[in-house]
Amino acid sequence: MTYQNVTIRIPTEYGPIEIPDPNGKVFSFLRLLDGTHRKEDLSRILSISDSEVESGIRKILDFRLLECLDPDKDKNVFNERELLRYKNNLSYFSLYETETESRFTFQSRLKSATVAVLGLGGGSVIAAWLASMGIGRIIGIDYDVVELGNLNRQMLYTEGDVGRLKAEAAKERLLMINSDTVVETRNQKVDSAKSIMNIVREADVVVGAIDWPLLYGSRYVNTACLLENKPLFFAGLRHGSAFIHRVLPYRTGCADCFWLTALRSNESTLSFVNDVIDGVYTPQINPAFAPNIALLTSLVGSEIAKYIAKHSPLFPKSYTRIRLHDTELSHHDVPRLPECPSCGSHSINSPEPPDLMTLKSLMNQR
Ligand SMILES: [Zn+2]
Repeated sequence: MTYQNVTIRIPTEYGPIEIPDPNGKVFSFLRLLDGTHRKEDLSRILSISDSEVESGIRKILDFRLLECLDPDKDKNVFNERELLRYKNNLSYFSLYETETESRFTFQSRLKSATVAVLGLGGGSVIAAWLASMGIGRIIGIDYDVVELGNLNRQMLYTEGDVGRLKAEAAKERLLMINSDTVVETRNQKVDSAKSIMNIVREADVVVGAIDWPLLYGSRYVNTACLLENKPLFFAGLRHGSAFIHRVLPYRTGCADCFWLTALRSNESTLSFVNDVIDGVYTPQINPAFAPNIALLTSLVGSEIAKYIAKHSPLFPKSYTRIRLHDTELSHHDVPRLPECPSCGSHSINSPEPPDLMTLKSLMNQR
């Protein structure tokens, strides 16, 4: 940190932070933030009010320039082997320390979390990220076997797994990645919200990576998470895009809010829903190509880590679209709709999602 021409300069990797400081008071303030002074000392030495000290510290926090007062806080949660395993996580988390949260605090939140991954196709790759980053417990569910055609992208599986249950192969492989993670998987069909309620109830965060039955699988997950009030991250692919839809129950729009909004604004959604209702929908382009899946799943892993560890803010809006040909990211709101049959203010807590005809009939009601 230097002070020249009434400006403080703090070098960072993104270029210097420059703070105008005409009378040098901010510079004196920053120099006193050396870990040996208390907040009340600062107001006394600099003759400023407690609230000025607080707002100064908040500004420094915004620039991520503060270290935790107790650098070893929560370190005792980990043994030597874990400290070695997660040394790069910890190094990364050191960028985000606050006065009360050390790098170990963030990692310990991952360790004490349970994440349910519903769907172990693309979801298996998300589960791999979660195991390697140190999530304490992963519950997975799927009803498929590994097919040769999955191996172009689902790197958790190998040729030797072809024909095996995904639930079985995934568990084995996740434990090979991280034997400290508790892994529970079930070979189970998701045919209702009720069928996954027990799993959702045990999770702190849910990943929705089920695409079957079409338009129902994800809505079963949606309903179960609403009823259990669990945060949900949907991940999927549509034509040339990948998307992440974050549902914070009764705060941001849910899957049915999304579909209602899309039905109203997009004719192709209406014809898609009609084709599904009539049973004549034929899948068109499937961009499930390894680099696309790697891109999508790593962003989901990052968002889940941020949600659990709280080291850094989530994406600014609840729906993120990644245009695959140039990886352009765009963020969109999915508003919670009062007329949504699943989470709206007029809805009663229905134990199962309404059928598609009912959903469609709400299109013109506002
Ligand atoms: Zn809704």
